Amino acid sequence: TSPPDETAESLALRTAKHPCFTCAEGKYARMHLPVAPECNIQCGYCVRKFDCPNESRPGVTSGILTPEEALEKYKRVKEKIPNLTVAGIAGPGDALANFPETSETLRLIRAYDPDVTFCLSTNGLMLPLYAQELVRLGVTHVTVTLNTVSPETGAKIYSHIDFMGKRYYGEEGASILLANQLSGLKLLCSLGVVCKINIVLLSGINENEIAEVVRTVKQLGAKLTNIMQLVPVKGSAFEHLSPVPNRKLADLRRECGKILPQMLHCRHCRADAIGTLDNDRSIEFREKPQQKSE
Ligand code: SF4
Ligand code: SF4
Repeated sequence: TSPPDETAESLALRTAKHPCFTCAEGKYARMHLPVAPECNIQCGYCVRKFDCPNESRPGVTSGILTPEEALEKYKRVKEKIPNLTVAGIAGPGDALANFPETSETLRLIRAYDPDVTFCLSTNGLMLPLYAQELVRLGVTHVTVTLNTVSPETGAKIYSHIDFMGKRYYGEEGASILLANQLSGLKLLCSLGVVCKINIVLLSGINENEIAEVVRTVKQLGAKLTNIMQLVPVKGSAFEHLSPVPNRKLADLRRECGKILPQMLHCRHCRADAIGTLDNDRSIEFREKPQQKSE
């Protein structure tokens, strides 16, 4: 299936020109629009004053933009970076926990640029509710961070979730999150959206469940997975969790590569990243003074 207004060919072309979904070695640039400050869950590897580590290198905060400011910035970037192919929303919180801002930003940019590929990343909690709307907005590529398919493990990773006006803790919260991630992913894939799954590798927590996650998301229609090394963040619950040795990460990627293609070139980009994956130009385009991390 292809989303409305997309043929299989046009979608494949978008994927080929998306620097994260296809490793094209610096040929294409993407721009993240930091319009989504809030989050609706608490991951053990995150401190909320930093960018979402699901998609971002922790330790540096970004200036939040309104949808109108994001459009103005997009125009400036598009003028200076002709190989810009993708506009994405990757936090610094969760794109779907800020749906009014996310959808307005996409609407404004689409009215200005009918061709750019839209991408966003999410923890998946609100996906079942917004998947169809995302397709209507022209989103063709989505990344869902999904670290486990076990509520028991999920309870060790997520301290709580906020859903429909209520806070849920432990396994109860993790079960709701998981159910929404899986049904949301299935729905997105059935609507023709190209989905990538980020999995944060957590020593002693989910390291033996990675292949199961990859098998599960493959069944639901995901096209690739990105097994990410933990970047310990000061002040987070996993501050002292040692990253899994790189050798084990490489073994896991090799093993899981037999199930689904693996993204091996992720750069843990900032929520306001601009440019090719190897050449961040966000500083050039910054209009707001940056807060320094502690
Ligand atoms: Fe932090 Fe992202 Fe997790 Fe939200 S989803 S708590 S912003 S890592
Ligand atoms: Fe792409 Fe990884 Fe950067 Fe996201 S964090 S834009 S997946 S390289």
